[in-house]
Amino acid sequence: MPVVLKPAASKNNVRSSRPDVVDTVAEVIADVRAHGDEAVHRYSMKFDAWDRASYRLGPDEIRSIVSGVPTSVLEDLRFVQRQVQNFAQAQRDSVHDFEIESLPGVYLGQRNIPVTAAGAYVPGGRYPLTASAHMTIVTAKVAGVERVAATTPPNEGAPPPISVAAMHLAGAEEIYVLGGVQAVAALALGTETIDPVNMLAGPGNAYVAEAKRQLFGEVGIDLFAGPTEVLIVADETADPFTIAVDLLSQAEHGPDSPAVLITTSREVGQSAIEHVDALLPGLPTGRVAGAAWRDHGEVLLVENQEEAFALADTYASEHVQIFTAEPRDALAGMRDYGALFLGQDTCVPYGDKVIGTNHVLPTLGAARYTGGLWVGKYLKTVTYQEIRDKDSSAMLGELCGRASRLENFEGHARSGDLRAARHGGAALPW
Ligand code: NAD
Repeated sequence: MPVVLKPAASKNNVRSSRPDVVDTVAEVIADVRAHGDEAVHRYSMKFDAWDRASYRLGPDEIRSIVSGVPTSVLEDLRFVQRQVQNFAQAQRDSVHDFEIESLPGVYLGQRNIPVTAAGAYVPGGRYPLTASAHMTIVTAKVAGVERVAATTPPNEGAPPPISVAAMHLAGAEEIYVLGGVQAVAALALGTETIDPVNMLAGPGNAYVAEAKRQLFGEVGIDLFAGPTEVLIVADETADPFTIAVDLLSQAEHGPDSPAVLITTSREVGQSAIEHVDALLPGLPTGRVAGAAWRDHGEVLLVENQEEAFALADTYASEHVQIFTAEPRDALAGMRDYGALFLGQDTCVPYGDKVIGTNHVLPTLGAARYTGGLWVGKYLKTVTYQEIRDKDSSAMLGELCGRASRLENFEGHARSGDLRAARHGGAALPW
């Protein structure tokens, strides 16, 4: 059992959305389904004070917004998008179509086909999360998606210029200024303005994540990418000040963002707590980060590295940082996490903003069953089969007849019988 050096004031072990969020989301989705653009407009007014006849940006408006963004910012956006593109391309290259001959003349194949249309959600309620445009749109384009419809909430009553520029540079075919559940529902269900997409990707707050969850089935979703989480595993070699800075770098995402330290060193744990307390008053986002730290911040002391990794796995945290003498031990020692950040020179904000891996990652324990957004999430892995050998067809036809009758599927059996009889197998028994 770990020793608790700092408990979370309101530790929430429930790995599902809050009931009030579930209800609000269901209501908005039902309304958008029934009333299309009129409902989208109404909820945009209610939640975002956003009152525009059309929430789609036209080419002239996009051009004018992008031309107002400083050249140096556009250059930075292009640099990061190339990083994301390079990694996504390596992922695409690792996915292969193949075909085997499983029996003489029996061919079984697999292909990876991109979805035709994808929706990309770029968050922006609290901060314009521009980097999400790189993660969702660039990755979709590398996968070969033909139509990417991207959306982001208005920021202080206007389209957020840098996010719009990033969406445009990343190659989105359509750009909408819409946030929250109404945006997710409009993309998934379609409205008078938007054609529905086949698949939706992107992170967001609890409302956005729950909307994607409720719409899953009618539309594909990447994963349950809700409020950010960070967990640091540290031994006695770790620098407590760096730990404190990094915990707060993620706690500032929102008051519901857990920040956890698991350490084998009591001194490192206690010193990290003191540094967090000292840093908070000077952090401009300290009010949010402080609430997250108070309610969802934890520091736990364990006996050794093995115990630390095992405990960290139970959190299945979105981001896990490893500040130990041999950080790569975690590659073999851990299995449940969204992304690993190895060593004290690698921090989560690099993954969030610049390094090139995808920052759309599983939260609320979803890392137990999925990794983050990647090219493969935009690909449908499909199969095909063909028989070009008479003997194999006869043999499989007879086998199919027997197998189907075991399940009382006479219609299935007769399809097999027919092939068997046609190619020299048993005569038709019916
Ligand atoms: P957001 O764009 O996700 O949400 C803003 C929208 O929420 C608004 O447009 C509004 O319509 C809607 N909304 C707000 N309050 C509402 C209410 N009471 N009822 C209904 N709708 C409401 O932006 P955000 O709020 O800044 O959140 C971004 C989130 O994304 C953060 O929680 C962050 O941690 C998370 N994030 C997750 C990942 C990941 O990969 N898991 C990556 C980056 C960011």
